[in-house]
Amino acid sequence: MTCRHCERSAGYHSDHGRTLQSLFGPIRYERAYYYCRRCGRGAHPFDEQAGVTSRGLTPAVEQLATLAGAVGDSFAKGADLLQEMAGVRLSESTVERTTEEAGQRIEQHLREGALFGEPAAWDWHRDAQGRGVAYVTVDATGTRQQGPGAAKAEGRMAYVAGVYNPQPPHWLRPPGKPPPVQARYLSGLYGLSEVGPLLRRQAAHVGMERAEVWVGLTDGQSGLEGFLRMNFNRADLVLILDFYHAASYLEELARALHPQDGEKAAQQGEQWCGLLKQEGGATTLAVLRNWEWPPRQPEALRQQRARVEEYFANNLSRMEYPEYQAEGWQIGSGVVESACKTVVGQRLKGAGMRWGEAGAHALCHVRALYRSEKGQWQAFWQRRFTHGPPVHQPK
Ligand SMILES: [Zn+2]
Repeated sequence: MTCRHCERSAGYHSDHGRTLQSLFGPIRYERAYYYCRRCGRGAHPFDEQAGVTSRGLTPAVEQLATLAGAVGDSFAKGADLLQEMAGVRLSESTVERTTEEAGQRIEQHLREGALFGEPAAWDWHRDAQGRGVAYVTVDATGTRQQGPGAAKAEGRMAYVAGVYNPQPPHWLRPPGKPPPVQARYLSGLYGLSEVGPLLRRQAAHVGMERAEVWVGLTDGQSGLEGFLRMNFNRADLVLILDFYHAASYLEELARALHPQDGEKAAQQGEQWCGLLKQEGGATTLAVLRNWEWPPRQPEALRQQRARVEEYFANNLSRMEYPEYQAEGWQIGSGVVESACKTVVGQRLKGAGMRWGEAGAHALCHVRALYRSEKGQWQAFWQRRFTHGPPVHQPK
């Protein structure tokens, strides 16, 4: 074989025996060992070709261990799950390292421009005017980090971004079985500018270019709107402020108005949210400005009023909900409304959890891939990669 370090020829040395963990128990096998005299390094080329991990797991066990590590509440739970469902006993740390290594591999492929599976041509669901609509979203969520020496470290932001094809509203659904929801997620402790090319590559892979309308949904955090404008810069890009996020400001305001009366607060919140949905942000803000607030207001109420004022005033152009709904567009991120919760939060924000940066970053990749549309996870494990066209990052 050719030595991968010095590219000279490395000769066959001997056969080495090894025991692997397989789905059917331990498997003993022998494979050839090659040794390079020049650099003094050896290799087992068979292991690489067969996809055997450095920890001696078969590819099937590696895939299951990664799945268990990613979906279990913790790596210890993942190890239990693996034993219960597949009869494979691995230590907690093996499940952890295996999951993290898979995440690192996913990241590496993405960075190199790989996409998983064949290009897909999503059939974009139609809006009221018969136009196909593609959705794109990006959100940031905090993760608690473990600093050196178990010191508390400042939490890093994980981004969750997605391109998706959600269900159209009921009145636009063709008769019969509801069409599938398709989504691709990306997540990691990236800088926002790094997410751009990764997301655009996914968008190209599912045929976003063929959708007549692009809708970008964010929750109003600074920088996200600009990110979408820069990366999905088309004249007909519609930016919408996630309705549920705006509504949560109103619910909080209602609680501040009725701190002692949960029922009254819920009713008031519902009424304001209904107004926002039916009349949009500008009308809602005007109504709130003219509201008969009590003469003596507790500090919490004054603060929340100021927050609502600022948030609404900053986002009015993206809160024209009656108009969006008439077009048949989604006003909340819908299925992906909880993308941050499901991709990152559920697993990375469990009680008392703290993460090393590399571990959190790797796990974000595994979770995003697992949550993506059917076939993505399988394509990665079956090593079906394609390379998309190069994308340029605008400055
Ligand atoms: Zn060599």
